[in-house]
Amino acid sequence: MLKCIEVQDNLIAFLKEELAEGERIRIQSHLRECGQCRQARSETDKLRGLFHLETSPAVSGGVWARLAESIKSEKTVTVKIRSK
Ligand SMILES: [Zn+2]
Repeated sequence: MLKCIEVQDNLIAFLKEELAEGERIRIQSHLRECGQCRQARSETDKLRGLFHLETSPAVSGGVWARLAESIKSEKTVTVKIRSK
């Protein structure tokens, strides 16, 4: 059984369908049993849509912090590529 933190850390990859089949199944089965992670999933899904509009969504801190972290790390990669 996955921990909530492990599920929530992988939500973006899960929503982008970037996870391996086995991981996706593990997360799906966790989501079936865990209302908290289902909530986090729907918030993350909403944020993905909002991100394109560059708004500042008011959502629970944990989800946003994790999403921001993921966005930040993607940006770091982009900057590194650009600076070459
Ligand atoms: Zn959970």
